[in-house]
Amino acid sequence: MLWSRAFIPTLREIPQEAESLSHQLMLRAGLVRPLVAGVYSYLPLGLRVLNKIERIVREEMDSCGAVELLLPALQPEEIWAKSGRDKEIGDVMFRFRDRRGRRLCLGPTHEEVITQLVKQNIFSYRQLPLILYQIQVKFRDEIRPRFGLVRSCEFIMKDAYSFDQDQHGLKRSYDKMLMAYQRIFKRCGLSFLVIEADPGLMGGSLSHEFLVPAESGEDVVLCCPDCKFVTRETKDAVNCPKCNINLQRLNSIEVGHIFQLGTKYSKVFQVNLLNQQGNQNTIIMGCYGIGVSRLISAILEQNHDDNGIIWPREVSPFGIIILPLEIENKNIYKAGMEIYNELQKSGFSVLLDDRNERAGVKFNDADLLGIPLQIVIGERFVKDDKIELKIRRTGERVVLVRERLTEEIGRYLQESRD
Ligand SMILES: [Zn+2]
Repeated sequence: MLWSRAFIPTLREIPQEAESLSHQLMLRAGLVRPLVAGVYSYLPLGLRVLNKIERIVREEMDSCGAVELLLPALQPEEIWAKSGRDKEIGDVMFRFRDRRGRRLCLGPTHEEVITQLVKQNIFSYRQLPLILYQIQVKFRDEIRPRFGLVRSCEFIMKDAYSFDQDQHGLKRSYDKMLMAYQRIFKRCGLSFLVIEADPGLMGGSLSHEFLVPAESGEDVVLCCPDCKFVTRETKDAVNCPKCNINLQRLNSIEVGHIFQLGTKYSKVFQVNLLNQQGNQNTIIMGCYGIGVSRLISAILEQNHDDNGIIWPREVSPFGIIILPLEIENKNIYKAGMEIYNELQKSGFSVLLDDRNERAGVKFNDADLLGIPLQIVIGERFVKDDKIELKIRRTGERVVLVRERLTEEIGRYLQESRD
C-alpha cells in the first residue's frame, strides 16, 4: 500500500482523551477514531490488525474442529426472560421496541440464541460433539466506557459454544478450547496468565480466565513471581501455596473466559436428545469467549517503547515499511518503487512511505506505527547503492547492498520465528 493513498492520520501530540498507553497509541498511530464515547471506527491500519487477529482465532478454532456461523445481533428480549438472565443483566443491555411494539435488544452475548437454535436442529447424539463459534459485534451499555477498546459499548468478540452428550464430552471440548486459547494468545505476542475463576453471570461449574498483565488493567489479581500461580482470593493468605513467598498484586486486562456451563441453559430451553442408550438426555454445554477488539489494546499495552508501537509479527498491519528519504530524488523514488514491487511479488505485505516529508517525520512515524521491518533508502543508496534494514523491536540496523535485501529479510524472518 502507498502511504499517500492510504488513510493513516497519525498524531504528533498525545490526545487529551487518552486514558491509557494503549489508548494513546491507537489514536496516535491512526488505528481507530472515536465516534462517541465507547464507540470506535476502525481505520485501515486498525482494521488490518483486527483482520490478522481474527485470522489467528479462525485458524485455531477451525483446527480443533469448531465450525463458524454468524448469529444475529438483534435479539427478542423474551429469550432473556426465558433464561432468567433478563434482570441480572439489567441496564447493561441495550433495549428498545420495534414499530410493532415488540421488545428487542442488542446482544451482549449469545447463549440464549444458540441454545434455541440447537434445540430446533440437533436431535441425536450422532450429531455430537459440536462446537460452533462466531466473530461478531456485541453491545454493552457501559456506565463509563474507558481505555479505548478495553471498555467500549460496541466491540468484537469471538464466542464459541460446545454441545456434548455427557460430562466426559464436555471435558474433551473444554480442554481443546483451553489449549487453543493458549495458542491464540501466544501467537498474538502476549504474555498472559490463566486463572481458575468464578463463573459469575454465566453460571455452571468450572471456568478459566485469561488475563494480560498491563498497567492500565482493571482486573487486579495476586500472582507468584516465581511459579506464576495466580488467584483472585484476597483473604488473609497472601503467600504462594507452593513457594510460600509473597504474592504480588498485578493489574491485568481480561482477554478470554471459558466456562463449563453444564445444563444451565439447555435445561431451561429443554434441549433434549436421544443418547446412545435410546434415552432422552439434556445436552451439556460449554461457552468460550475472546475479546477480539480488546486484544488490540492488550497487545499494545505489552508491545511498545517510548517511540511507539512494536507489533508482534503475526498481528502487524504490514510486515515491512519502506522509507525512501528524499522522494524528489528520482533514483531514490525509483528504487523505492522497485523494491516495493519486488517484495510484494515475493509475498510480503508492504507499506511504502511515498509522502514528500522530511526524513525525521518519516522515521518518527515509522517507529510510531511499529511495523517490524523498516527499509531505509537514503544518501547511502545514491552514493554506493546501499540500503539500511532496521529491526523495530531491537533497533538493530544492517547496511547491505540492494541485491541481498530479500535474502536478508528471509533470514530475519527465520530467526524471529518463535
Ligand atoms: Zn509460587
